[in-house]
Amino acid sequence: MIAHTPTLFASVALVATIMAFCLILVGQLNRRDGLFATGCGLALHALAYVCYTLHGQAPLWLTYGAANVLLATALTFYLVGLLRIQGMSIPWRRLLSLPALMLILMISLINTREPRMLAACLVLIVQCLLLIGCAYRHAAPGGRAHILLVIGGGISLVGLLMRVGAILTGGAAELQYDASNFKQTLSVSIGTVTVMMFSLGLVLIAKERSEASLQQMALRDALTGTLNRRAILEQLSAELERARRAHTYLAVAMLDIDHFKRINDVYGHLAGDEVLCHCVQHLRQRLRQADSVGRYGGEEFLLLLTDTTPQGAYAALEALRSSMAAAPAHFGNLSIDVQFSAGVWCGIPGPYDSVASLLTQADTALYAAKAAGRNRVQVADTDNPPYTLN
Ligand code: GH3
Ligand code: MG
Ligand code: MG
Repeated sequence: MIAHTPTLFASVALVATIMAFCLILVGQLNRRDGLFATGCGLALHALAYVCYTLHGQAPLWLTYGAANVLLATALTFYLVGLLRIQGMSIPWRRLLSLPALMLILMISLINTREPRMLAACLVLIVQCLLLIGCAYRHAAPGGRAHILLVIGGGISLVGLLMRVGAILTGGAAELQYDASNFKQTLSVSIGTVTVMMFSLGLVLIAKERSEASLQQMALRDALTGTLNRRAILEQLSAELERARRAHTYLAVAMLDIDHFKRINDVYGHLAGDEVLCHCVQHLRQRLRQADSVGRYGGEEFLLLLTDTTPQGAYAALEALRSSMAAAPAHFGNLSIDVQFSAGVWCGIPGPYDSVASLLTQADTALYAAKAAGRNRVQVADTDNPPYTLN
C-alpha cells in the first residue's frame, strides 16, 4: 500500500496537534508533572511535520533544516517531560546540545543530499537511544508504562535505521519527503506510532508516578516519614499471620516518650516535633531490616521485631532505651534529653491471638512501665493476659 507522503505527514501533524492541545491544556496547571513539557514536545513535533509537508514547494532550509531541528527539539522536550515526571533535575545545556548539533549540521550540510540525510538520522537515533535508556533506567518499581516509551523509541529506531540503510545503499532519492513509495509510507507511518506511543507512554508514566506517591503518602507519617498508624497496623496483621503460620516468635512493642508534654511546654512545639523525628531516626538506625517502626499516635511508636525471642526482644528494647537516653535530640542550640518507656508482648502467636489482643497486652505493659517510674522496658505477662479470650 502506498500513501501520498505529504498527506501522511499532515495526518501525523494533526494527531500530534490534538495530543499537544490536550496535554498543554491539562499540563499547564502543574508544570512539574512533565505533561506540559510533553505537550510542548508534541507541538514542536507537529510543526516539524507541517514543514515536511511543504517539501518541494518551500525552501529546503525550512522543509528539511528547520523541520529536523524542530523534531530534535521535540525529542528533547519528551526527555524533559520524562525527567520531570521522574522528579529529576533537568540538565538543559546537555539536553539542548543535540538540537544545537542538528542546527549546525543542517546549516553546514543543507546543500548536500546524502550527508544531510545521514546526519539528521544519526542525531535522531542518539536522541531515541537516550529516551529509551532514560525510560528504562528510571522506571518506577512495578510500573509498566515505561514499556510504551521503550517500544515507541524502538520502533522509531527501526525506522531511522531503515532510512540510514536506504541512504547508504543509494536509495536517498526514494526517501525525499515529497516522494510517495512503500518505504516512505512505512517510514512516515512509524512517525504516527512514535507520537502515539511517546505521548501515551509519558501520560501513563505520570499517572503511575502520582499513584505511587499518593500510596506512599497514605502510608507514611507526614512529620517523621515513618509508617503511619494504618500502615504499621497492616504490617502487624501481616506479621502476626506469618508468625502464626510459621510458628515463629514475634515481638510487638509499644513505646511512649516520657514527659513529652513537658518537652513541648519547655522548648516549644517545634522542638517537640524535632524530638519525634530524632526518635524515629534513632530507632530506624538501630533496628534490623526485617523489623518495622510506625507512629501509632502523638508520641507513641509501635515496633515489630520478627523472629525474636522474649529474651532477645527485651535485650533489643533495653539497648534502644539506653542508647536513646544517652543521645539527646538537637534543636538549634538546644540539646534535649529524650527517654521512653516501652511495653512489649512477645511470643509465638496462637489461634486466639489477634492484633487487638497483642496491642492491649503491649499497652498494659507500657502502663506498668510508666507506673514503675518510666525510662524502662516492661515485658507483658503472656500467662495472665489482661483480657478475656474469646
Ligand atoms: P508520659 O510520660 O506519661 O507519657 O507523659 P507525656 O507528657 O509524654 O504524655 P501525654 O500523653 O500527656 O503527652 C503527650 C503530648 O504529646 C501531648 C501532645 O500535645 C503532644 N503531641 C502529640 N502529637 C504531637 C506532635 O505531632 N508534635 C508535638 N510537638 N507534640 C505532639
Ligand atoms: Mg502518650
Ligand atoms: Mg508520653
